[in-house]
Amino acid sequence: ELKKYQFMLRMKMPAGECPAKVFQAIDDVSEMFGNHTLRLTSRSSFQIHGILKSNLKAVYQKIIHAGGGLYGASGDCSRNVSTCAAPFTSAPYRHARHTAKMLAEVLGLQSRAFAEIWLDGEKAATIETWKEDIDMDDVQRIIRHDNGRGAVLDDPVEPIYGHAYLPRKFKMGVTVPGDNSLDVYTHDVALVVMCDSDGNLEGYDVLVGGGMGRAHGKEETFARAADHFGYVPAHAVYDLVKAIAATQRDHGNREVRTNARMKYLVHRMGVDAFRDLVKTYMEDGGAALEPFRPLPPWRFSDWLGWHEDGSGTWFLGLYVQNGRLKGEYKRALRQVANQFGYTFVTTPQQNVLIAGVPTEKKRELESLLQSHGVELDAERLDPLMRNAMACPALPLCPPATTEAERVMPAYVQRVRQLMNKVGISDRESFVLRMTGCPNGCTRPYMAELGFVGSGPNCTYQLWLGVVRTRLV
Ligand code: SF4
Repeated sequence: ELKKYQFMLRMKMPAGECPAKVFQAIDDVSEMFGNHTLRLTSRSSFQIHGILKSNLKAVYQKIIHAGGGLYGASGDCSRNVSTCAAPFTSAPYRHARHTAKMLAEVLGLQSRAFAEIWLDGEKAATIETWKEDIDMDDVQRIIRHDNGRGAVLDDPVEPIYGHAYLPRKFKMGVTVPGDNSLDVYTHDVALVVMCDSDGNLEGYDVLVGGGMGRAHGKEETFARAADHFGYVPAHAVYDLVKAIAATQRDHGNREVRTNARMKYLVHRMGVDAFRDLVKTYMEDGGAALEPFRPLPPWRFSDWLGWHEDGSGTWFLGLYVQNGRLKGEYKRALRQVANQFGYTFVTTPQQNVLIAGVPTEKKRELESLLQSHGVELDAERLDPLMRNAMACPALPLCPPATTEAERVMPAYVQRVRQLMNKVGISDRESFVLRMTGCPNGCTRPYMAELGFVGSGPNCTYQLWLGVVRTRLV
């Protein structure tokens, strides 16, 4: 049964980074005010379920004062900006994380209403943690720079969004060539960082018009893989992103909400006409844009297990079944935060990476996790389960018509049994994803076998054979 008096809280965590102090705060909140679990999301964030209305203010204040982000995690605006999660220190990965944080702010909400309502107009005791990594003066300059082409509105509060914001949510992602751990073709805007041989950022390949959500019985709604938009040099990237957002703001469908995502605008116009329209909002009329540059084949990795991050320290990828952190597992991560203070990085596969572990601390960290029963060896997992994802669905998500997270393990087991029956090895795997409704939060339309909830009592549409990556 859906409890209509309880709330779900979603974090804004660009690049999926969750420092220990923020994790401690959300863990406290989940215990004091939530349902005692934390939910990793498919867009590198956390959700907390079960918060009662009367507790909202206390919850917000606790998280914000710890440096956590809440403002702009939902709504008709830029949502949490995803990246390839692996915290490598090589130049492309560093640029990807920095770009994600910049994007989060350049298209961040400017209104002070949130602070006025939930912090009584006070300033938070600490700033949101990712803002420490970017130049906020630069961000404000970018937001307010009016190139006279209409991207910036005459609006004292929201220069880019204006009073009506965007027609619908707006999802962005940033990755490096070859790393498709975030499903790069599923974003409204995706950037692929391009560096020279010395690691200097040169520019970005840009993809537009991806998105998963659709509605049953409405053929005019559909999941869509993004188009190749072009290449933009680094100096023009925020001008371009503002121009794309302004194009969707002014030309997206505000009449029919189920057709309001930017993918429908790109689809209706075709990517060439869409690009021409975007250029009219750009400082130089789009002269800086170049054709999409060739990329190496995409590859998926969940980054589980130990990996050296390129600077002599390590990160440890931990599998979290369907992203649900609870019980001993959650206590283990809390202990890691308390004892070691490491940053967690949440992945678009709903897993968690523990970043910045010195070589001499690896054994100690392993012992702590093992003492709580956390499985460290990803190779011991059934690869079908390791690759699978399900959304929360019932009883936590209002649009859900049926189960996902709670039944997925049994479905995976049944598929495995069937495979065994026809003589397919236990190590063979494919991508299986499940959702409780056609909104497609765990990207079932990009899976090889997608279960999409279509009615009560575990009734699903089956989506077959959609390729996970697209070679370019
Ligand atoms: Fe909820 Fe539907 Fe998203 Fe699942 S896919 S989390 S049921 S909105």
